Amino acid sequence: MPTPFKRVLAANRGEIAIRIFRACTELGIQTIAIYSEEDRLSLHRYKADEAWLVGKGKKPIDAYLGIDEIVDLAKRLEVDAIHPGYGFLSENPEFSEACERAGIVFIGPTAEMQRKLGDKVAGRKAAQAAGVPIVPGTPEPILHDEEALIFAKQHGYPIIIKASAGGGGRGMRVARTQRELVEGLVSARSEAQAAFGNAAVFLERYIERPKHIEVQILGDHHGNLVHLFERDCSIQRRHQKVVEFAPSLALSEKQREAICQDALKIARSVSYRNAGTVEFLVDQEGHHYFIEVNPRIQVEHTVTESITGRNLVQAQILVAQGKRLSDPEIGIARQEDIQRRGFALQCRITTEDPQNGFAPDYGVLKAYRSPGGFGVRLDAGSAFGGAVITPHYDSLLVKITTWGLTHQAAAHVMDRSLQEFRVRGVKTNISFLENVMRHPVFLEGKCDTSFIEAHPELLQ
Ligand code: ADP
Repeated sequence: MPTPFKRVLAANRGEIAIRIFRACTELGIQTIAIYSEEDRLSLHRYKADEAWLVGKGKKPIDAYLGIDEIVDLAKRLEVDAIHPGYGFLSENPEFSEACERAGIVFIGPTAEMQRKLGDKVAGRKAAQAAGVPIVPGTPEPILHDEEALIFAKQHGYPIIIKASAGGGGRGMRVARTQRELVEGLVSARSEAQAAFGNAAVFLERYIERPKHIEVQILGDHHGNLVHLFERDCSIQRRHQKVVEFAPSLALSEKQREAICQDALKIARSVSYRNAGTVEFLVDQEGHHYFIEVNPRIQVEHTVTESITGRNLVQAQILVAQGKRLSDPEIGIARQEDIQRRGFALQCRITTEDPQNGFAPDYGVLKAYRSPGGFGVRLDAGSAFGGAVITPHYDSLLVKITTWGLTHQAAAHVMDRSLQEFRVRGVKTNISFLENVMRHPVFLEGKCDTSFIEAHPELLQ
C-alpha cells in the first residue's frame, strides 16, 4: 500500500526548489528547504515550511553537494523523501543509495538505473542493447590518442569529443582536423576532470546542424511506462539549451512515433521508473540517433506540462510513494490518455549580457516587474526588487513558459511577455530572446543547433 509522504526535503535551490515546494504543498506535504550561507536571503528558503542552513564554511556549490550532511539532516528532521531537482546531486547514485540506507525515499530512479543510464557511455550501451540507433562513436572512453586516430581514420572528420560524465554542454570539443582532435582530447579531459571529477572522454561522429529532440518519459514502480511526447531543444548556445518548445515542427507523425517508441524501448530495457528524458539528435535527412538519458526532471519540463496538462513534479512524488500511473491522482491508465493540446515554449531568462559574449552580470535587482496574462507561466528563483544576484550559482533568473494554439501564437505571447518585463540593475538576455521570438526561421520552427551561431544579428 502506498504511504503518503508527510515531509519532503528539496536538495536544491532556486526555481526548481520552489517548483518542488509548490507541488508538495498542493499534495498536502510539508516542505523543507536547505540553503547555503550565500543563499541566506534567497527566495527558495522562504518558500518552504522550514529551512535549514547547510555547508557552513564550505564553498557555495559544495553546500548542496554534501551527501552525508544532507542525509543526516533529513533523518534528524524525520523527512520521508528527498527530491533532488536537477544538477547538484540529482544524478549521483551514491546520494540515492545514502537516502535508501537512511530509510528515506529518493524521488527519482534507483541508483542502478542511474548507473546504467546516467553516464553517456553507459547510456549508449543500453540504447544499443535495446536496438535503438546511436551516433557512431567509440564504445569506451579513449585511453590513448592512437584509439582516437584510428576512429578518425575509420569515420573521418568532424568528430565531437565528449565527457562521459558530461552535462550542460561542458567537456565537449568539436575537432575538424587531427591537430584539433589531439589538442581537444587534452582540453576536454581537463575540463571534464574539473567539472565532473571524471576525466573520461569518448568520441562521436559530429552531426552537422542537427535538431535536438528529446522525449519525456514517466514510469511507476509497477512496470507501467509512458512517454509525454517530445521537446525541440535545438536553440542552443555552446551546446546549452536556451529556448525549448513542443511539439517539434520538424517531425512527421511517423517520425514522432518512432522517436517516442525508441525512448520507451530504452526505458523499458532497464524497467525505468519516475521521470526521465531520452535525448536524440535528428540529422538533416531526418534520421534520429540516441545521445543520452537524463534520469531526472529537466529545466524544460514545463513545456511538456503546458501541452499535456500533466503535473510532472507531482507525478514524480506520487510514483515515488508507490502510486500507479493509473491511480486517479496521476490519471494515466494508458498511453492514449496523454493528449497534446496546442504549443508551448520556454525561455530561460538569465542575468547574462548578450552584447558581451553572454558574460554573467551581478548586483542588486533595482527593479523587477514580471509579465502575466493568458498563456503565461513563470518559474522564478530569487527574482524580486532588491534581490542580490551573486556569482556563486548559475545565472538563471526566471523561466517563462507560454502557450498558444499554434507555435506562432505561443511565440507572440512570449514576445509580448518579454516586452512586459522590467529588470533594472542587472543585465539580462531579454532583448536577445525577443530577437529570437521575431526571427522567421524560429517562427517556422526550423531552427537547428547552429541557429544562434549562424545569426549574429540576434545579439543586437
Ligand atoms: P550535455 O549532457 O552536456 O548537455 P549532450 O550529449 O546532451 O551533452 O549534447 C548537448 C548538445 O551538444 C546537443 O544538443 C548537440 O547540440 C551537441 N551534440 C552532442 N553530440 C553531438 C554530435 N554527435 N553531433 C553534433 N552535435 C552534438
